[in-house]
Amino acid sequence: MTTLTADLKKTTKKATKKVPVRGMMDNVMEQFNSAADQINLHPNIRKILSITNNEILVNFPVKMDNGEVEIFTGYRVQHNNALGPYKGGLRYHPTVDLDAARALAMWMTWKTSLAGLPYGGGKGGIKLDPSKYSEGELERITRRFTFALADNIGPEHDIPAPDVNTNSQTMAWIADTYMSTRPPAERNANQHIVTGKPDGSGGLEGRDRATGYGVYLTIKFWAEKNDVNLEGKKFIVQGFGNVGYWAALFLERDGAKLVAVQDAYGCIQNQKGIAVEELSKYTKINEGSIADFPDAKPVNKDKFFGLDCDIVIPAALGNQITKENASKIKGKLIAEGANGPTNVEGEKILLDKGITIIPDILCNSGGVVGSYFEWLQNRNGEIWQLDEVMAKLDKKMKESFNKVYDYSKNENIDMRTAAFCIAIERIEKAYIQRGIFP
Ligand code: GLU
Repeated sequence: MTTLTADLKKTTKKATKKVPVRGMMDNVMEQFNSAADQINLHPNIRKILSITNNEILVNFPVKMDNGEVEIFTGYRVQHNNALGPYKGGLRYHPTVDLDAARALAMWMTWKTSLAGLPYGGGKGGIKLDPSKYSEGELERITRRFTFALADNIGPEHDIPAPDVNTNSQTMAWIADTYMSTRPPAERNANQHIVTGKPDGSGGLEGRDRATGYGVYLTIKFWAEKNDVNLEGKKFIVQGFGNVGYWAALFLERDGAKLVAVQDAYGCIQNQKGIAVEELSKYTKINEGSIADFPDAKPVNKDKFFGLDCDIVIPAALGNQITKENASKIKGKLIAEGANGPTNVEGEKILLDKGITIIPDILCNSGGVVGSYFEWLQNRNGEIWQLDEVMAKLDKKMKESFNKVYDYSKNENIDMRTAAFCIAIERIEKAYIQRGIFP
């Protein structure tokens, strides 16, 4: 007995000594609160926006290829819908949990508000490593997840989209499952249940490149404002998925040079330049990985953010730029393709060093803007052409960029705080006009 109590005491002591790991929720709340202070947000509205409206957790069984049944846990967090239906992606990743979904849903609320869309914010996903499952298993997992979510999602209520490790195929399965479970006469009227579908199944031409193109545009707009020529500028990209690839391709077309890439499997560098299309072709024959690309040298992944470059594009997961590596960053511009890649401590170091951050809710908003176009296209029974989509995206991104840039200059604050202020003010206005029911 004595030994057990002593042991327990020891472990408790140890546990309390542990420094808590900063989660994405800490970051999004600190970002929100500093913008709320800046605009002197009404305390009642601060209360409302500090919490999520609904949190849905589903456990569901799926038959595996070997005949065994596995139980999966899926999430959908609906943060706020003051401006319109909840909108945001579904990610398949081992780090998905309620807290991550909450933080990501909050970021979606600010992102859609800043972009001037008639949407609120939501996010979700399944806690799993998709590389461990066959295509057939992933299809059954996705369909069963959609079925489990049931009427918690809906084309005028909560509209999912792709995110980390989900793609147009995932969206096609969700759309098909959701539509198949509606009464026959309503099936086609529900095509806009998800965005990011393949073109041919109600998807929007150009939705695949929308996020990466938007990342590139914000870099271009920043360069124009600051008399910087992108020709010959070196950039590094963390994550070579949909966002990283397209952003890199558009930058390369403007003469900038991709010099290093990191993904989940490896980290490579070539200061003479890595051909984006060549690297993409290579990943297709290398199980999606950049590792061992012949025209570059491997680098230790801990050295990635300290590599020589002008522009850094984190386009993978959250909490990547922290107090551990922020001081090593050599680039003068960070363009956040990912959601929440820079934590608050990392950001302070960067801002003190005079590094500009184009914040996630602006930088990667091309994706949800493209989603909005797809939703409108489906809702109105239209089919839009690629050039039309790209021109509209350009216009929307420019408006948002200018708003944030001007606000930050006028108020003498960083671009993230400016972006949050604009986003929150729009929601505050809606609450003030409508009041609180009853
Ligand atoms: N997952 C993307 C994001 O984080 C897209 C969301 C959407 O299109 O709804 O912005």
